[in-house]
Amino acid sequence: MKEINSIQFDLEVLQGGKVILDFYSTECPPCEALSSKFEDLSKLYGNDIKFLKIYRQQNRDLAEKLGVKSSPTLLFFDEGKEIGQRLTGGIKRSDIIHNLDLMLPDDRLKEIKSKIKPSVSEYDVIVLGAGPGGLTAGLYLCQAKINTVLIDIALPGGQVSTTHEVSNYPGFIEPQAGYLLSHNMSEQTKLCGTVYKFAVDVTKVDLEKKEIVIDEFETVRAKKIIIATGTTPNRTGATGEKELKGKGISYCATCDAKYFDNKEVVVIGGGNSAVEESDFISRFASKVTIVHQFEKFTANKKAQEKLFANPKMNFIFNCEPRVFEKDGDKMVTEIENLITGEKTKLVSDGVFIFIGMKPNIELFKDNLKLDQWGYIISDENMQTSISDIYAVGDVTSKKYRQITTAVADGTIAAMAIAKELN
Ligand SMILES: Cc1cc2nc3c(=O)[nH]c(=O)nc-3n(C[C@H](O)[C@H](O)[C@H](O)COP(=O)(O)OP(=O)(O)OC[C@H]3O[C@@H](n4cnc5c(N)ncnc54)[C@H](O)[C@@H]3O)c2cc1C
Repeated sequence: MKEINSIQFDLEVLQGGKVILDFYSTECPPCEALSSKFEDLSKLYGNDIKFLKIYRQQNRDLAEKLGVKSSPTLLFFDEGKEIGQRLTGGIKRSDIIHNLDLMLPDDRLKEIKSKIKPSVSEYDVIVLGAGPGGLTAGLYLCQAKINTVLIDIALPGGQVSTTHEVSNYPGFIEPQAGYLLSHNMSEQTKLCGTVYKFAVDVTKVDLEKKEIVIDEFETVRAKKIIIATGTTPNRTGATGEKELKGKGISYCATCDAKYFDNKEVVVIGGGNSAVEESDFISRFASKVTIVHQFEKFTANKKAQEKLFANPKMNFIFNCEPRVFEKDGDKMVTEIENLITGEKTKLVSDGVFIFIGMKPNIELFKDNLKLDQWGYIISDENMQTSISDIYAVGDVTSKKYRQITTAVADGTIAAMAIAKELN
C-alpha cells in the first residue's frame, strides 16, 4: 500500500498497470471504516494489484478533474484506463472484492482466495446494529468497562442519519440535523473505546451459540448479544414499485427531495413520517399530493395542522396505489378509491412512499418470541426469549418508536448486562 499525490498520479496510476486508488479525507467516518478493509485486502491482492491512497483535501484539483465528489471514493484502473464501478460511502469488503476479482484471471483468484484465513474474535458483548439504540448500549457498556463490539451492515447512525431534522431530542434548543445528531452519538461511543465493525456483510447469526459471522470469514463471539437492528420501510405491493425504486420512487425525503425543485410529487402514506416528510418535500416541490388509505391522517395533530395550512399540499383520502409506471420522465401512479373502486391516474415527477416499517430480523428470527407484527418481545431488562440475548429500539415490540425510546432501551439493556457481567 502506498500514499501518492497528484504529481505522482500519471506514473503510479496511468502508467501503473492494475491499480485501486482510494481518495480519502480526514475526519471522515466512512474513510475510517474503509481503512482496515483496504489494508487487509492489500495483503491478499497486493502482489497483483497496486493499492494506492491519495489525500483528497490536498489533491483537490485532481479529484475535481476525475469527478471525485465524496470521500472515500475507490477507483479502479487497468493499463491507464478506469474500469468497473466506482465505490463510495459505506463501502463493503464484498463490493471491493467484486471489483478486484474482475481484474484478475480465475486461476490467480483461486490462489488468492485460498489464502483467506477464517478468524475468530471474542468479546463480552456484541451489539448488532448501530442506530441510537445500539450506540447508546455501546456507550454504557464501554463506560462500564465491558469489552464490546458494535457491528452494522451500514455506517453508524441508523435511521437518524437520514432524517432531515430532529426537533424532539432533549438537550438541544434548536432542531438538529439528523446526520449531525447521529454522528455525535457515534463519536461519543467510539471515543469511549468501543470496537467498531461497520459496513460489513453479516452472513450468519447464531443466537444460541452467541456467534456472528461477518464478511464470510470473521467469526465474532460473545457472552451476550444485543439486537438493535431497527426497521426497514414497508412496500405498498403495487405493481412496478420494486422496479422503479431509485428510478422515480424514493423512501427517503432527506436524500431525494432536493431533486424535485419546482416539480410535482406524490406521497403515499398518512402517519407521522408521511406528514412530516411531505412538509420537508414541499420546501423544494411546487406541489405535493398525499395519497392516504384512510379518511383521516394518523399523524400527530400539530404536524397535520402545519400540513393543512401549506398551500402546496393536495390531499387524496381513502385511496391506495395499484400501479407505478414511467411515462418518459414522468411517474404515473394509478390509485384506487377503496370506497367506490374508481381508478385514477396521477402524473408527477416523483413518488415518495412512507407507509411504515418492518423489523430487521430475517437472519435470526427462528427461535425468538415475536409479537403478531414480527417485532421481538423483550422483558423490562430488554432480555428476549433466548437467554443472554437482548433486543432494543425499533426492532422490539413496543408502542412508540422514537430516538428517545431506542436510547432508553439501549441504556436499560446495557445496565442490566453490566450488572450481570460484573
Ligand atoms: C423519516 C423518519 C423520520 C424520523 N424522525 C424522527 C424524529 O424526528 N424524532 C425521533 O425521535 N424519531 C424519529 N424517527 C424514528 C427514529 O429514527 C427511530 O425510532 C430510531 O432511529 C430507532 O433507533 P434504532 O437504533 O432502534 O434503529 P435504527 O435507527 O433503525 O438503526 C438500526 C441499525 O441496524 C442496522 N442493521 C439492520 N440490519 C442489520 C443486520 N442484519 N446486522 C447488523 N446491523 C443491521 C442498520 O443499518 C441501522 O444502522 C424517524 C424515523 C424516520 C424513518
